[in-house]
Amino acid sequence: MIFRISRPACFSSLAALACIAWSSSVLAMPVEVHNRIATPVIADKKIALTLDACSGKFDAELLDFLIRKRIPATIFVTKKWLDKNPAGVTIIKAHLDLFDVEDHGEKHIPAIIGPGRKVYGLVGEPDIASLQREVTEGAKAITSAMGTTPQWYRGASAKYDPQAMDEIKRMGYKIAGFSLNADQGATLRKQAIINQFKRLQAGDVIIAHMNKPASDSAEGLAVALAETLKQGFVFVRLDQVELQRVDMQKLQTARRSLALTN
Ligand SMILES: [Zn+2]
Repeated sequence: MIFRISRPACFSSLAALACIAWSSSVLAMPVEVHNRIATPVIADKKIALTLDACSGKFDAELLDFLIRKRIPATIFVTKKWLDKNPAGVTIIKAHLDLFDVEDHGEKHIPAIIGPGRKVYGLVGEPDIASLQREVTEGAKAITSAMGTTPQWYRGASAKYDPQAMDEIKRMGYKIAGFSLNADQGATLRKQAIINQFKRLQAGDVIIAHMNKPASDSAEGLAVALAETLKQGFVFVRLDQVELQRVDMQKLQTARRSLALTN
């Protein structure tokens, strides 16, 4: 079903209430979704590595490392990235035993609705129909390139309007958040990426990027992930687990108190 949001007429006092409700729902602040692997996780030390391929290029060094070390990962790709990176597609397709490929959209447009709205400089969708296209065309491109059907969706910027989240779920996709930001959009330097992993706990969903080979992401992740393996963490893909929403502030507090007791 396709529906559009229309602005209610705001001339009568009764309509003014509807108008206020409309404005607050449309202009609600986008939320960043934070997830961890659903319990029980503490004993088996499960963690999930997710890599976004937004647009841009293909970080061969990072994928080579994951393949050599047999580290499973969930890769969120856009149609835009698939179209531009045939060599990357070939490598991922040859290792679907390791890599779960999930939907990051058609053109890397954030799941925020309303003309002119932006997040991190990325322009959102004008309406719900455009969001539906972004999600559907991203999924179709994955099926066409990989022969698999995505079940998870991560919007560009990982921020969502509540109405966009509702629609993505209604379309049958689970929304993939994260709990540990390893490379801050491939902007962190090698040592900063390694430092991010010092807070890693069982159940974490790590987000990093594999579309910027000039960044330090591959170098930092290689050191951090090798150490993570030594510590006995077990990598799982999102098609093997369920996730639960978490409050990031409570999680940060728990991480700090754990660091103090260690
Ligand atoms: Zn992205």
